[in-house]
Amino acid sequence: MAPHTKVAIIGSGPAGHTAAIYLSRAELKPVLYEGMLAGGTAAGGQLTTTTDIENYPGFAKGIGGSELMDEMRAQSLRFGTEIITETITRVDLKSKPFRLWREYEDADADEPAHTADAVIIATGANARRLDLPGEDKYWQNGISACAVCDGAVPIFRNKPLVVIGGGDSAAEEAIFLTKYGSHVTVLVRKDKLRASKTMAKRLLANPKVTVKFNHVAVQVQGEEKARGLMTHLRVKNTVTNAEEVLEANGLFYAVGHDPATALIKGQVDTDDEGYIVTKPGTSYTSLPGVFAAGDVQDKRYRQAITSAGSGCMAALEAEKYLADLEDDEPTLDKEQDAKKPESNGDTAPEYRSNPLL
Ligand SMILES: Cc1cc2nc3c(=O)[nH]c(=O)nc-3n(C[C@H](O)[C@H](O)[C@H](O)COP(=O)(O)OP(=O)(O)OC[C@H]3O[C@@H](n4cnc5c(N)ncnc54)[C@H](O)[C@@H]3O)c2cc1C
Repeated sequence: MAPHTKVAIIGSGPAGHTAAIYLSRAELKPVLYEGMLAGGTAAGGQLTTTTDIENYPGFAKGIGGSELMDEMRAQSLRFGTEIITETITRVDLKSKPFRLWREYEDADADEPAHTADAVIIATGANARRLDLPGEDKYWQNGISACAVCDGAVPIFRNKPLVVIGGGDSAAEEAIFLTKYGSHVTVLVRKDKLRASKTMAKRLLANPKVTVKFNHVAVQVQGEEKARGLMTHLRVKNTVTNAEEVLEANGLFYAVGHDPATALIKGQVDTDDEGYIVTKPGTSYTSLPGVFAAGDVQDKRYRQAITSAGSGCMAALEAEKYLADLEDDEPTLDKEQDAKKPESNGDTAPEYRSNPLL
């Protein structure tokens, strides 16, 4: 028989660990699968791929991305979360309890490695890259996939910056970056923007922005030393094939993200971009007992703090779901129910059984 837990968390970014902290403090003994280079990212998620985090509250001097995730992991462990360093490669969310298979232990077996009454999906998303020559060398040394996260760092202050992309995100990021850079060039592969009319108008009207239509990036250039910074970008006109080198101390990709939802495809509702659909303002997915938190269900904010916040919501909602399941069981412990304090009416009835509130 596969080991059974009340709740399993899949994913190890801020959403997964926040859910684990809340659930373990509520003594629900969660199991968290942190992944073994799941989707090419180390356990700990996207923040392990970056250096300083300056916008996560509580760290006035900033904190390293990996250091922040090590702290979250330690906090999950401290309250009794069981962390398993494996990737979940298959789930059966149609059966009750839910069934989970691990990549190495039993990927092809009939019996799953694990069963759970509730599952929290916190598998995150990955920013698309372009695989340009020079990209690996200058990643995080000038190249970023998140203007809101990195725009304010000193290497970009009063420097020429480039954004790649033609959609709303690219327009928003470019306008945001005009606060910091001396000028922002936007490279758009086609002859028009995909952004909404309002965003496009705002972008084109900004005196600190130049939009280069029919242009793609071909090579990132920069200092030839360890941790050297990018300084230039070679670009190509897709109509004439003419190339030129732009001065650029920052390069921001706004070419989309891929939510890590292959695992649940066809079992839980996703939108046309693959993000898990949650009921607005909650972590509820289309399947009762399955909750989603973090970037896997959020294509708008995509921040560590919003992921952590939604991890908290998923934990509280999973906890309520589990309490309701127990209430429905014929073996309900009536004695324990009788011991519950009477509500004084101050607490919302649906959260009365939640020990955290
Ligand atoms: C370069 C960079 C810099 C950033 N800087 C900032 C910043 O300064 N401030 C900020 O607020 N945000 C920043 N962000 C955004 C932030 O990292 C994300 O919003 C946040 O990490 C999302 O958290 P998450 O919990 O949803 O999942 P993720 O961080 O995406 O982590 C999910 C992880 O779960 C694991 N996993 C996935 N699938 C499975 C599976 N099947 N089984 C087991 N494990 C699995 C993987 O390790 C995966 O990476 C940055 C992002 C990037 C890429």
